[in-house]
Amino acid sequence: MEKMEILLSTRNRDKRRELSQMMGEEIVLHHPEEYFEEDIEETGTSLWENALLKAQYGYDKSGLPTLADDTGLEVDALEGAPGVYSSRYAGLEATYDDNVNKLLEELDGVEVLKRGARFRTVIAFIHHGASKRFDGVLEGKIIGVKRGSSGFGYDPVFLPHNHQQTLAELDLELKNQISHRGRAFRAFKIWLYSNKSVVFD
Ligand code: IMP
Repeated sequence: MEKMEILLSTRNRDKRRELSQMMGEEIVLHHPEEYFEEDIEETGTSLWENALLKAQYGYDKSGLPTLADDTGLEVDALEGAPGVYSSRYAGLEATYDDNVNKLLEELDGVEVLKRGARFRTVIAFIHHGASKRFDGVLEGKIIGVKRGSSGFGYDPVFLPHNHQQTLAELDLELKNQISHRGRAFRAFKIWLYSNKSVVFD
């Protein structure tokens, strides 16, 4: 079996874990630390800009076809915040917990019907200098207390539509089956398999 070698341009271990679970045996993943030490600054003002700059940086350093994901949580009652700033919602050095606590404080007193939210993932893939985009969305709502200990980020307070469990109460495989990242990644994988000869010539 001819293997497909791809750079996954992220240092986020949680994203790596989720994406690795979905890769399959034919894809061999490489990581930034094989090619460069520095962190890539996310200076874009949209998920696509950030995904693209992470993919471009990785591609320039490695020469490998490169994938990057940028994800944001959009909360209706906060007019789409934290959105592209989801990782820095409670400040530049904020932990996942700091961000979730700030979100719960901002939504304190907001009634259930107004707590609608969605996760949006944009994947950028660069090969031979050309870029492709893949999107995935998961609709749901923000509950008032944290539940569950798997997953990461805002998972403990995110209840997907038509589900009784938060994303942090689902195991990795179930989360990937319904999640924003899982959806974007499956769209990427379908495209990759039908463009294999062009990407890896
Ligand atoms: P970024 O894509 O690295 O900019 O990530 C943005 C932030 O969104 C992360 O720091 C997490 O707090 C959050 N995030 C990204 N993906 C997920 C997810 O699948 N579940 C929960 N939170 C997430």
